[in-house]
Amino acid sequence: MTKILAITNQKGGVGKTTTSVNLAASLAASGRRVLLVDLDPQANATMGSGINKQTIKVTIYHVLLKQAQLQHARVASVQGKYDLIPANRDLAGAEVEMVDFEQRETRLKTALEKVEQEYDYILIDCPPALNLLTLNGLCAAHAVMIPMQCEYYALEGLSDLVNTIKRVRAHFNPVLKIEGLLRTMFDPRNILAQQVSEQLQKHFGDKVYRTVIPRNVRLAEAPGFGLPVLYHDEQSKGAQAYLELAKEVLSA
Ligand code: ATP
Ligand code: MG
Repeated sequence: MTKILAITNQKGGVGKTTTSVNLAASLAASGRRVLLVDLDPQANATMGSGINKQTIKVTIYHVLLKQAQLQHARVASVQGKYDLIPANRDLAGAEVEMVDFEQRETRLKTALEKVEQEYDYILIDCPPALNLLTLNGLCAAHAVMIPMQCEYYALEGLSDLVNTIKRVRAHFNPVLKIEGLLRTMFDPRNILAQQVSEQLQKHFGDKVYRTVIPRNVRLAEAPGFGLPVLYHDEQSKGAQAYLELAKEVLSA
C-alpha cells in the first residue's frame, strides 16, 4: 500500500526540503517508486531535484486550482530517480485564490488519488507555515514526519504543531498520525542540542527516529547542483544518514 508522508514544521529552515529530497532519493535508490510533491512557493524541492522552476509550465498551483490534472504537472527527476510535482512562486497566490472554494483543504488529497497506486511512497514538502497549503498536505497524508533542530524554541514550536495535527485529525483526516520526529543539523558537541534531544526522547519516546542527521556541508552544497546528496557525494555523512533514515522508514 502507498504511504503518504507530509514533511512538515511551521518553523523555517529546519531541514524539511533537505529531508524531502534526500529521503525521496534514498527510498528510490532502494527500489521504491517515489513521488515528491513540492508544496512550497519557494520551490526549493523542485530546484533541489534538478528541475528549473523558471521554465516549468504546469505546477502544483494549477493542480490545486483544478486548471490541470496532477498527471500533467508530473515530471521525472532524472537526477533523483523519482517523480516530482513541481512548484514555483505562482503557488504563493493559491491560498488567496482558493479561499472561497469548496473543499479547499482536500484538493491535494483528491488530486493524488488518481496516481496513488503508482507509488510506494508519496512525500509532501510543506512550506514553513500552518496555512492552507500545509493543511492540504496534512489532509492528503497518512502521517507526518517532523524535521527539527535541537534548539531551545524547538519544543515550543512542536507543541503548536502537535495541536494542529490533533485539530486536523478531529476535523478532516482521522487517520493522520505522527510518523516520527527527525533531529536535523545535529552537532553532538553542542550541550544544548544534547539536552533538547534528551527531552524529545523523554516526551516522544520511540516516535523519535534513531537516525540523526548531522550538520554536513555536502547536504547544503548538493541543491546547488540540482542533485540529492547521494549523487553528489555518496560517502558523505549526510548521504549515509539519509540512507539510514530510508532504512528506518522502510522498516516501520
Ligand atoms: P524552509 O522552512 O525555508 O522551507 P526547510 O525547513 O525546508 O526551510 P532546508 O531548506 O532543508 O530547510 O534547510 C535550510 C538550510 O540549511 C538550507 O540551506 C540547507 O541546505 C541547509 N541544511 C539543511 N540540512 C542540513 C544539514 N544536515 N547540514 C548542513 N546544512 C543543512
Ligand atoms: Mg523548504
